Amino acid sequence: MKELAHKLRTSQVSSVELVQHYLDRIRAVDSDIRAFLYVDEDGAIAEAKASDERRRRGEPLSPWDGIPIAIKDNICTVGTPTTCASRMLENYYSPFEAEVITRIKQAGMPILGKTNMDEFAMGSSTEFSAFYITRNPHDLTRVPGGSSGGSAAAVAAGEAPWALGTDTGGSIRQPGAFCGVVGLKPTYGRVSRWGLVALASSLDQIGPMARTVADAEILFSIIAGHDNRDSTSWPNAAYRVMDAVPDNLKGISVGVPEEFFAEGLDPEVACSVRQAIKMLENLGAEVKPISLPHNIYSIDTYLTLVTAEASSNLARYDGVRYGLRVEAPDCTTMFKKTRTKGFGPEVKRRIMLGTYVLTASHHEAFYEQARRVRTLIAQDLEQAFSSVDVVVTPTTPTTAFRIGEKQDPLQMYLSDSYTAIANLAGNPALTMPCGIDRKGLPIGLQLIADHFREDLIFTVGRVLEQSLREVEAGGEL
Ligand code: GLN
Repeated sequence: MKELAHKLRTSQVSSVELVQHYLDRIRAVDSDIRAFLYVDEDGAIAEAKASDERRRRGEPLSPWDGIPIAIKDNICTVGTPTTCASRMLENYYSPFEAEVITRIKQAGMPILGKTNMDEFAMGSSTEFSAFYITRNPHDLTRVPGGSSGGSAAAVAAGEAPWALGTDTGGSIRQPGAFCGVVGLKPTYGRVSRWGLVALASSLDQIGPMARTVADAEILFSIIAGHDNRDSTSWPNAAYRVMDAVPDNLKGISVGVPEEFFAEGLDPEVACSVRQAIKMLENLGAEVKPISLPHNIYSIDTYLTLVTAEASSNLARYDGVRYGLRVEAPDCTTMFKKTRTKGFGPEVKRRIMLGTYVLTASHHEAFYEQARRVRTLIAQDLEQAFSSVDVVVTPTTPTTAFRIGEKQDPLQMYLSDSYTAIANLAGNPALTMPCGIDRKGLPIGLQLIADHFREDLIFTVGRVLEQSLREVEAGGEL
């Protein structure tokens, strides 16, 4: 992104030209990929014109002024729809904008449009969008992952230079891995969720998706920061981009949890991630085996909590306050009809499961038990970070699967086997591409760090990315 910023600064390109380039690209490829639910041509061009005008007048500008972005459709924007890819909010326009949108605007960045997702961010393939599926730009017969599949596909297909996604159990990192882009789930409390449509409030974070680790770091620095309208926002949340990264990793220790390389992991993914770990070692990092023994419970724990919290958060869609309303002679029937028509199958499944785990008779056995296991899972990571700086794992057990391939919801949930741990424990975690499999599909590597140590993730990520690029360009491993 530094090159684009330089071109804008030296008038080699204008923001209008840049935005036009991405709009042209969207027009050329999005009928196949369908990454966007809404493209705001007029709005983006108007913002680009305003940026060019600010620059012409010589106003003090953010370095990223004039560089456009795409936004996942569960983040509230004013003047464009915010649908969460649900019939429930099909015609919904938010009366206020999310804090991250205010920050994006303060940085002068035009918004290209809103990207497709699984309905209310529930899913791992974007097949649960109520409107249409998004396709993986690397293979149109495959899913882009989810739930931020539209944002990942848009960045991968060159329809946007970067995008915002959200991650509750893996929804930035899993589609990032499937589409070969970088994505960060920040530390819980580092990015304001004011104006994010909640899925599970104890897990949700907004994060950057970009083509390189350095770009993800820049976008993260734009959106991170304290906001007193989000009660979980951390006072020292701001982040400054590192001026320079070292050319080696001496003095950095990397933990490898062997449990993540066991059954269920595609051998090609394992091989590629292990090669990258070897590369980290060659770069000077100290690689140590570690153990995260409770991660085998992370999907069960995650599902218990995510369904419980979702059933509560989605109670607000009652036909009275937001979006869809199906009229009926009495109130209860109106609620029933509205919710029956407005929600898709996965959302209904989760509301029912969540209601069940919260019932008085099952609350202790399911919800409270999951909360206790969550503590054990978090303690595993805490223990790990007493001896290593970052943890390295595969991001996903497999590369992108075929559209329609995962009919069994439980199989779909296993996509998050390696990612949910960071949401449950609140740690920052990043996915970055580390290779491709024999089918030509991207493979993602995950870096997890201690709370608020995104700087360590970006250091290791940037050094590794540089080294991977040199190998790709013909160097020796
Ligand atoms: N795929 C996970 C789920 O279905 C994660 C969703 C998310 O992170 N928003 O719940």
